[in-house]
Amino acid sequence: MRDFTAEAAALDAADPLAAYAGRFVDPGPDSLIAYFDGNSLGRPLVETAERLRDFTTNEWGARLIRGWDERWLDLPLSLGDQLGRVALGAGPGQTFVGDSTTVLLYKLSRAAVDAQQRAGRDEIVLDTDNFPTDRYLLEGIAAERGLTLRWIETDPAQGVTPEQVRAAVGERTALAVFSHVAYRSAWLADAPAITEAVHDAGGLVLWDLCHSGGSVPVELDAWGIDLAVGCSYKYLNGGPGAPAYAYVAERHHGGLRQPVWGWMGRRDPFTMGPGYVAAEGIRGWLSGTPPILGMVPLESYAALLEDVGIGAVRAKSLALTDFALEIVDAWLVPTGATVTSPRDHARRGGHLTITRPGFRDVTARLWEQGVIPDYRDPDGIRIGLSPLSTTFAEVVRGLTALAEVIGSSGK
Ligand SMILES: *Cc1c(COP(=O)(O)O)cnc(C)c1O
Repeated sequence: MRDFTAEAAALDAADPLAAYAGRFVDPGPDSLIAYFDGNSLGRPLVETAERLRDFTTNEWGARLIRGWDERWLDLPLSLGDQLGRVALGAGPGQTFVGDSTTVLLYKLSRAAVDAQQRAGRDEIVLDTDNFPTDRYLLEGIAAERGLTLRWIETDPAQGVTPEQVRAAVGERTALAVFSHVAYRSAWLADAPAITEAVHDAGGLVLWDLCHSGGSVPVELDAWGIDLAVGCSYKYLNGGPGAPAYAYVAERHHGGLRQPVWGWMGRRDPFTMGPGYVAAEGIRGWLSGTPPILGMVPLESYAALLEDVGIGAVRAKSLALTDFALEIVDAWLVPTGATVTSPRDHARRGGHLTITRPGFRDVTARLWEQGVIPDYRDPDGIRIGLSPLSTTFAEVVRGLTALAEVIGSSGK
């Protein structure tokens, strides 16, 4: 019998990022035994409380309206550049922070299909297991613009492949939209190969980075990606409802036009002049007043990520999911649980999904004990291991509780 508790202690002792776990707010063992949902809502840094207080007192409170000229008007772009540098492989001037992922998906998708429709392309390619908001949003755009949705049927235990995409795209393809890491299975799509397949057919591609940004290295510029969006409250620890980010490759700044023409995306907004003229570059993709307050926690986390480096984060992420897989194989698979995430590092994102009938009730019982995974139909428990805030010991604690709830000794 392996002693996973002892193994975890050794892994934590050898982990070069171990000290970072102490930088997050710890609500104490009465409230939290193991957090396996950092892929849905990342934990706050201790310093975030201080930063929010400092912002309230010294920026908002003291600078008041002057804050806009002094720093806030640039923040959506400067923070976007920083995210581009630390997590997305995006050169400056192509990324901004603002709106929600859903709204940004709308703005970018609409811009892309409008341009492509003028060139006679009228299909959007997407997959059946993409996140609901992505599917609904594209249904809405298709209805609004008279477009056809071309669905790729994906295996929910895996994800979309370059071969499937090559078979689906063609001369009618306007836009293809996929998730880089699938929210259920954690399938890590081959983004460079899929992007190439869409481009070969003359389509544009939009990647949803919600489950990869801050966890899996992304190389938007190097992969030739056209458009991307992602949310900042998952692996970027920006807090509930924190604003999302969007990337528009520089080569599209002139040709694509976003559909929500607000004053903050207009050239010279404070002249309040007649008629909308888009601002130059990525600023023209903004709409209304940017949610500055919601960017404050994200600023702290982006700075932390800049120190640590996304490569080190990914290495720990793989080590955590490998370790969790070994425990799942030892304790849970013999009870009839199935791992429905890829085992191959090249295809696995930052979480694991395991399925077994009755896992919905199991999840509820775990939550009562302060062990927090999340549940996804059908019968899936997602174990999201946010690399900087999760320890190997915590993996053992949480999986021990899970094994006990389903009546496996866990030993
Ligand atoms: C979490 C998530 C979203 C969320 O979009 P919101 O507008 O923030 O609600 C969208 N897409 C994917 C793939 C996600 O995982």
